[in-house]
Amino acid sequence: MPTAYITHPSCLLHEMGQGHPECPARIKAIEDQLIASGLLPLLQHHEAPSATPEQLERVHSAAYLDALWATRPAEGLAMLDPDTWMNPHTWDAALHAAGALVLATDLVMQGRAENAFCNVRPPGHHATRDRAMGFCFFNNLGVGVAHALEHHGLERVAVVDFDVHHGNGTEAIFRDDPRVLLCSCFQHPYYPYSGADTVSSHIIPAPLPAHTDGAGFRAAVSEKFLPALDSFKPQMIFFSAGFDAHREDQLASLNLVEADYAWITLEVMNIAAAHAKRRIVSTLEGGYALHALGRSAAAHVRALAGM
Ligand SMILES: [Zn+2]
Repeated sequence: MPTAYITHPSCLLHEMGQGHPECPARIKAIEDQLIASGLLPLLQHHEAPSATPEQLERVHSAAYLDALWATRPAEGLAMLDPDTWMNPHTWDAALHAAGALVLATDLVMQGRAENAFCNVRPPGHHATRDRAMGFCFFNNLGVGVAHALEHHGLERVAVVDFDVHHGNGTEAIFRDDPRVLLCSCFQHPYYPYSGADTVSSHIIPAPLPAHTDGAGFRAAVSEKFLPALDSFKPQMIFFSAGFDAHREDQLASLNLVEADYAWITLEVMNIAAAHAKRRIVSTLEGGYALHALGRSAAAHVRALAGM
């Protein structure tokens, strides 16, 4: 069965100012590597729909959605925090980024694709129920997880977040929902300075000190995530796929390489094969060194596609 590839042209129109690392070229850097490696034609292509208000309100307050809508500038940029800005296209891009996760979830749940990768931006894992922050507006992955739980009726969904930053928004949204197992590794201490001290039966943090390399990363994943995933027996698994822990990425200080991303993808695919009918949905989070981002995402998609 194929791997679905979901994106939308609006993801190229959201911009947060000259020189901002979370830029449209990220989408193209990934696509270029998928073309160069011969993978792109083998994927099942879809254009992302817009998420509906009902789908968004499973993880965001109506008041936040209204406030974000009202902040939308007719021209120029509007600031939400010093890192996070809206241009006239941001709202539309964010709707499609969240909608990509809904479509991906539907495709995988309906057996139309084995797994799916959403090449979308803005990213989502820092967005909380009531707040945009850290380049994120809607918690795209959260919208997908909530859709799997509420629309498809799943009882156990796992999230594996390997972005270099702690996914504070995702944790805040699902903190009180034991149907969601959240496995999150991140550089610590580092932005957003949360997550390391969380104590919960269904939240598994793996804080990693600066300069951790692939061996340290794989040890943490093997010791903390894989046993927790195996005993949770998820019916579906979501990746928050940020590639900013790559050693070439200047935004943070971990030292992963492409092979580490392929490795965690394959390990989680083994869990999905054992418990989740192979259902995996992955979405882009961070990753700012464009060449490393493209190669790393291609390694991740290549693994998902079984190539
Ligand atoms: Zn990040």
